Amino acid sequence: TEACLKAVDAADTLNAFVHKTPEIALQQAKAADARLAAGDAPAMCGLPVGIKDLFCTKGVASQAASRILEGFKPEYESTVTSKLFDAGSVMLGKLNMDEFAMGSSNETSVYGNAVNPWKVDDRQLTPGGSSGGSASAVAADLCLAATGTDTGGSIRQPCAFTGTVGIKPTYGRVSRWGIVAFASSLDQAGPMTKTVRDSAIMLGAMAGHDPKDSTSADLAVPDFEAMLTGDIRGKKIGIPKEYRLDGTPDEIVKLWDDGTAMLKDAGAQIVDISLPHTKYALPAYYVIAPAEASSNLARYDGVRYGRRAKLAAGDGITEMYEKTRAEGFGHEVQRRVMVGTYVLSAGFYDAYYNRARRVRALIKRDFDLAFEAGVDAILTPATPSAAFGLGEMSDEDPVKMYLNDVFTVTVNLAGLPGVSVPTGLDAQGLPLGLQLIGRPWEEGDLLNTAYALE
Ligand code: GLN
Repeated sequence: TEACLKAVDAADTLNAFVHKTPEIALQQAKAADARLAAGDAPAMCGLPVGIKDLFCTKGVASQAASRILEGFKPEYESTVTSKLFDAGSVMLGKLNMDEFAMGSSNETSVYGNAVNPWKVDDRQLTPGGSSGGSASAVAADLCLAATGTDTGGSIRQPCAFTGTVGIKPTYGRVSRWGIVAFASSLDQAGPMTKTVRDSAIMLGAMAGHDPKDSTSADLAVPDFEAMLTGDIRGKKIGIPKEYRLDGTPDEIVKLWDDGTAMLKDAGAQIVDISLPHTKYALPAYYVIAPAEASSNLARYDGVRYGRRAKLAAGDGITEMYEKTRAEGFGHEVQRRVMVGTYVLSAGFYDAYYNRARRVRALIKRDFDLAFEAGVDAILTPATPSAAFGLGEMSDEDPVKMYLNDVFTVTVNLAGLPGVSVPTGLDAQGLPLGLQLIGRPWEEGDLLNTAYALE
């Protein structure tokens, strides 16, 4: 813990940790020592971790990287962080992210972007988003692991950009209680780590039924680590042709082919599959996620949490809402709230929101049919490119940024588990990742396949 605290202090230029909690860390480390001395060694005992700023941590600033939550210190602990603490984890602090987890580059954060520890010459790169601080901190060895959340790719894309491993569990596997909500039907928390084994261990500590989250599944949590045998003989791996997009760089295509060959060499059976509704996933996601966000973010009214704008004499409640929300939310968040309220409005609800929901059901059915045909896991690229430069995607062209999520959003729409594993480097020496998508509730099997790829 002391070594990690030092590393965190020495890495301020990465802007990964946005609130440091050394006193809590040292106190938790002492408690972990005492547990170990008493012969009690829970899974995460004494392991220093970082926590994404989206998780409510009792008495510790939890701002979702937004100005509107300035000064907010929750009275309670999220289920995930309290499970991690029960399992012996040590919290070093809170990690940078895109504001309310909306973004793919960490550049919408009120704290400014986190930086990728990987670089080419002097070009500064994004660690990805929204869990950019988590990815940066793990890749730079500031902590042993970090929590992330993934609504459309926010664990998997930053992992791919930083050479780390992360899993978005099946929807319902991990409790959302105490995690600031973005799009409730898509959000899931998961681990971001150096290795597949670490992800298996940490997922085990984070997962489990929680009566406080009505969407959390009442299922036993298997010993994911024990399932890592590396034996994938006879497993059927699907390669979906719709993910072979025009314009995908050759190095990504090669990475995918190499990964396919590796699984085949390990004894898996490779089959070509079709997921015909894939091309509608991104537009459906960018209707459904903003719709849910606009509703979730209605609670930031300047009364109950965080920051209230300065009011002028004569301002009433409407001015208070307007000024607080105009000052408190950044551009991307405002854009999502506007898109969301538009697609939910009486005149456009059927044309956009309902249509997107129907498309979502078709996307899920594509996966169901593949799994019913015996496919155990699906292999795809995690991202369409390696990490891009900071400032390269402008706020004026949000769709360019949204295209980053083309391979990841399908998994959230279908509620499936998806893991991102680093499997190669591009011509410039930057990490690239592949994605494996699994059957619902079979994270153990999925991690084992990822283990064979690692
Ligand atoms: N990049 C996607 C978005 O901006 C996904 C974000 C996430 O998974 N939290 O919505």
